[in-house]
Amino acid sequence: MPAPNFDVIASLSKRRGFVFPSSEIYGGMAGFWDYGPLGVELRNNVKAAWWRHMVHLRDDVVGLDAAIIMNPRVWEASGHVAGFSDPMSDCRSCKLRFRTDDLKGPPSEIACPNCGQRGTLTEPRQFNLMFATHVGPVEDSASVAYLRPETAQAMFAQFENVATSMRRKLPFGIAQIGRSFRNEITPGNFIFRLREFEQMEMEFFVHPRDEDEWFAHWVEARHRWWTDVLGIAPERLRLRPHDADELSHYSKQTTDIEYEFPIGWSELEGVADRTDFDLRAHAAASGKKLEVFDEKAGEHVVPFVIEPAMGVDRAVLTVLVDGYAEEQLAKETRVVLRIRPDLAPVKAAVLPLLRNRPELVERARRLTADLKQQVTAMYDDTASIGKLYRRQDEIGTPYCVTVDPESLDDGAATIRDRDTMTQERVSMELVPQRIAELVEGRAQWEGIPREPAGAGAP
Ligand code: ATP
Repeated sequence: MPAPNFDVIASLSKRRGFVFPSSEIYGGMAGFWDYGPLGVELRNNVKAAWWRHMVHLRDDVVGLDAAIIMNPRVWEASGHVAGFSDPMSDCRSCKLRFRTDDLKGPPSEIACPNCGQRGTLTEPRQFNLMFATHVGPVEDSASVAYLRPETAQAMFAQFENVATSMRRKLPFGIAQIGRSFRNEITPGNFIFRLREFEQMEMEFFVHPRDEDEWFAHWVEARHRWWTDVLGIAPERLRLRPHDADELSHYSKQTTDIEYEFPIGWSELEGVADRTDFDLRAHAAASGKKLEVFDEKAGEHVVPFVIEPAMGVDRAVLTVLVDGYAEEQLAKETRVVLRIRPDLAPVKAAVLPLLRNRPELVERARRLTADLKQQVTAMYDDTASIGKLYRRQDEIGTPYCVTVDPESLDDGAATIRDRDTMTQERVSMELVPQRIAELVEGRAQWEGIPREPAGAGAP
């Protein structure tokens, strides 16, 4: 089945409590979305899967959680104040603004894509994508500050503190998950392009001589995270090295990890070789030395940086799009989210077969409470069993546990697998442990290489 389009996913997301338009009762706000009760669970699971593989399973990466607003000099030194912009054209007639890159020809020759008038589009002007605000009571140019457009700069600004406090030698990385803000001109495609979003970025500092092998290593390791940890279909993923003319000003080489959405191949993550651009820029602007002592060579070096940078929201979107399936059963179509059990918002749903038997309901509720000690679980008796199964399939719950009248005699319940729909009878006492094992068993994965192939510790 081809990937479902974003309307299908947006509609399921709203109906089932994954994602809602921000401030919808006031008509919403373009580029801003809220995660509902199930969305927040899925999102947290995606972030946990990244943190586990980037930080906890490695001994060469540590974490950071920096403030969103930093000293504005950070953004001057990084080049964002001068250069983080897209070319824009305004329509003098309808007043709408367009990204010049998105227009189907030179602004002076084509009609406005909105109102259709000719000769009304202005020549392109650079439009900075950073949201500015004022810090403190006075609103003047001295109090201007920015909402960060990426999390990366905090890792450079805190390079010295992290390296010293954690006694780090090269190679080592600093990872961060956090909100970023960009005043995108054309937000859209559901949660693909947002104005407030979350990033997961890691700056990996290496000796300049080891740059290429670590770059290759991170491209491979990140690709395998998408396939093996998030469970995304490999045939819908590709690696795309940037052409020389599309590289960012700080990058020597970049490879994007892309997914084949219904809108076409689109970027999920970029792995960039930022060289020593950022550390040198911040050293020059702050007057601080940002370097490490290389014992082997007996000299101080400014490390090079390999950066895997991805968006949480695009990962959530990919998990939903990639997992979505419609299956033809004998009498109906089953919508099922085939997402990995460890990502699923609810791991187990307890469904009593009869809701007018108080002792059965009571037993099922007790089982739910026991399950909640091990995994995220819920109880539901608000519909017929067939309907209850369908509801859980649609939100990706990997295991449903039914409690039936026989359970009161034999003390056992039935575990049903979302994907195979096969059933297993298990003693109720053992159900929580069994489900935890099933979820855990399918989450174990050891395969991401920790170092460049064949290099040993560089
Ligand atoms: P794009 O070309 O799509 O604008 P980018 O190359 O500017 O993205 P980076 O600056 O490399 O993006 O940011 C790293 C990651 O952050 C991207 O791969 C993407 O997953 C995520 N990201 C960037 N901008 C947005 C946005 N406006 N909304 C949601 N996620 C974003």
